[in-house]
Amino acid sequence: MKIVFLGTASAEGYPASFCTCKRCISARRRGGRNLRARSSICIDLEMLVDLPPEVYLRSLELGIKLGKIKYILITHSHEDHFYFYELRLRRWPFINGKVERLRVMGDESVIRFLRKHFRGELRNLRIRTTALKAFEEKKIGAYKLIPIPAVHAVKNRYETPLNYIIEKEGKTLLYACDSGPYNEKTLEFLKKIELDAVIVEATMGTEGSHSWPYHMGFRDVLTFRKWLIQNSVLDKNAPFVLTHFSHITCPLHEEMVRKLKPYGVTIAYDGYKFEI
Ligand SMILES: [Zn+2]
Ligand SMILES: [Zn+2]
Ligand SMILES: [Zn+2]
Repeated sequence: MKIVFLGTASAEGYPASFCTCKRCISARRRGGRNLRARSSICIDLEMLVDLPPEVYLRSLELGIKLGKIKYILITHSHEDHFYFYELRLRRWPFINGKVERLRVMGDESVIRFLRKHFRGELRNLRIRTTALKAFEEKKIGAYKLIPIPAVHAVKNRYETPLNYIIEKEGKTLLYACDSGPYNEKTLEFLKKIELDAVIVEATMGTEGSHSWPYHMGFRDVLTFRKWLIQNSVLDKNAPFVLTHFSHITCPLHEEMVRKLKPYGVTIAYDGYKFEI
């Protein structure tokens, strides 16, 4: 399974859209790995996890053909994860010819919203939708997907924000973005799983989930990693990659690497790739 990051920032981007603080000025000046689009990943050039607004530009930069994407998994309805407007471009007069079929998957209320928004248009857009439920396994093509409930706050009380356990050809990845620390039920469930890699949000950085329980910080993700290793869910040498950084609580790239590398974690950046 080949994974590439199309974005690694929280909702406002890093540097933030409208911010002129010292850290944003430094990030703009240093450039490179300090310029982060909103978070998403691509798996094997055929699956996207989340659809933020910069997917178009990053896909060009990283050689990902959006027309070849077969599956999109949506974690939740926050606009930095679900820029659904982009999907309207899958038909004439925005494309010439026929686009490959696309299956969009997510929590039932996300899928219901999508169906309502495109009202009968999905067929023309060559989009099929599949609603997923937490803890219910779904086989889609070469993938086995298990959504798990994130601890995250969304406006719609009927929506369950999801994280995903994604298995393909014997390799298993957990994409945990966005989520605060998991509850007991989810941890119990995870004990039965063997993971080959984890991608987890560290939005709260140096602050931590005590000030906002719906995101994790550095301390939370290190505790989570320790728990995974102790419970034989993850090997201590397996990739454990952080993403979804907020510039308010997360230092510049080089500083995060310096601080966290000794703990066996990787700081993702836009364009970062790894394989399991
Ligand atoms: Zn987010
Ligand atoms: Zn700023
Ligand atoms: Zn969110």
